[in-house]
Amino acid sequence: MSRARLRIVLAGAGHAHLHVLQRADELRAVGVEPILVSPATFDYSGLATAVLSGALPPARARLDVAALAARFGVPHVPAEVAAVDLSARRLRLSDGQDLAYDAVSFNVGSITDAPGKLGGDGGAWPVKPLARLFALRAQVETYIREQGESPAIVVTGGGPTGFEVAAALAGLSERNGVRPDLRLVHRSAPDWAPPRALTRLAITLARRGVTKEEGEVVSREPGRCVLADGRALPCDLLVLATGLTAPPVIAALGLPLSEDGRLEVGPDLRTMGDPAVFAVGDCAVIAGAPRPAAGVFGVRAAPALVHNLGALANGSEMRPYAPQSRWLSILDLGDGTGLALRGGLWSQGRGALALKRWIDLGFLDGLRAASGEVLED
Ligand SMILES: Cc1cc2nc3c(=O)[nH]c(=O)nc-3n(C[C@H](O)[C@H](O)[C@H](O)COP(=O)(O)OP(=O)(O)OC[C@H]3O[C@@H](n4cnc5c(N)ncnc54)[C@H](O)[C@@H]3O)c2cc1C
Repeated sequence: MSRARLRIVLAGAGHAHLHVLQRADELRAVGVEPILVSPATFDYSGLATAVLSGALPPARARLDVAALAARFGVPHVPAEVAAVDLSARRLRLSDGQDLAYDAVSFNVGSITDAPGKLGGDGGAWPVKPLARLFALRAQVETYIREQGESPAIVVTGGGPTGFEVAAALAGLSERNGVRPDLRLVHRSAPDWAPPRALTRLAITLARRGVTKEEGEVVSREPGRCVLADGRALPCDLLVLATGLTAPPVIAALGLPLSEDGRLEVGPDLRTMGDPAVFAVGDCAVIAGAPRPAAGVFGVRAAPALVHNLGALANGSEMRPYAPQSRWLSILDLGDGTGLALRGGLWSQGRGALALKRWIDLGFLDGLRAASGEVLED
């Protein structure tokens, strides 16, 4: 007699689910029927600023998720999860379909957490979804081609993403033969890297035409944006790097959230309010263990997630995942150099960027080799 299979829907093809897809055979062997619901392609954040700066074409940072799912025999619905009925265990998809599940795992990443009025400003450029950044590059290139100079760009947000995006946009102007016209607006003095690393970074950016302003952008008007203290800055394009939060489908679940709007999960990666709901990556956080948004956490959680999805089916013990307390992050500075950070250590230069490219291109090329996807020149 065959056992009933457990249908587990993988919502989103984030870093962890890309790994789960490749281990679908193991899951099927213990009675799981995995199904993927996600857009057909995945844009990889590790190479997003390389695309923005003009160093790489967008196709280099984009993965064919449909091909990967097909290669590992996982049915794929090219849609997004729009709503969840937890009590009926049904998903409503963006294409109007309804999908029943026994368990669901969310790896849907994050969106830009844009403040008040700026969030609803369709003319501003949020750094996520990453497809918007790729479109921003095209917009800047068109402006430079038509006007013969860089547009006045304001990047708001003083975290590593704000600095990296500003550096990438400076690189884009430089690659197109014009001097960058860029202002980076941040609310308070940055503290996300050792002070000497931040000083060196600020000097590098200033030399390339990026000025830093302390303040808060509160509105945008044609040709300028206004700060909370009344100052106005020239601004043709406003880029929002104001932090990341989980997509709206996560808050709509009605399950416990962290202060920054992510689903709270236990060490077994199940949500605190519903044992049939797993969540990993940016959209989730282990209760009491806050951490920043970074792809590496999804990658490291993936083996525990595979184990625990299988454990749900065969009744074995769940395995806890403990996020690492130190991790390597490398900012691409858009000019052939990078800033590498790990704990209190840092290094800025060409070697840092070479290491970043090796890691990021290797990650995507490994996935392409697994799926058989061939990149066209
Ligand atoms: C400009 C920029 C540069 C960055 N650079 C780095 C870096 O170099 N290294 C690093 O570690 N982190 C970087 N980050 C942070 C990084 O983007 C995130 O931490 C990381 O992508 C999170 O991975 P994830 O697996 O949670 O989700 P993601 O990688 O965001 O993947 C989530 C997937 O889910 C899909 N999805 C979304 N909503 C739904 C839905 N409702 N239903 C189905 N599918 C859905 C999305 O289309 C997406 O493909 C950067 C962020 C930005 C903005």
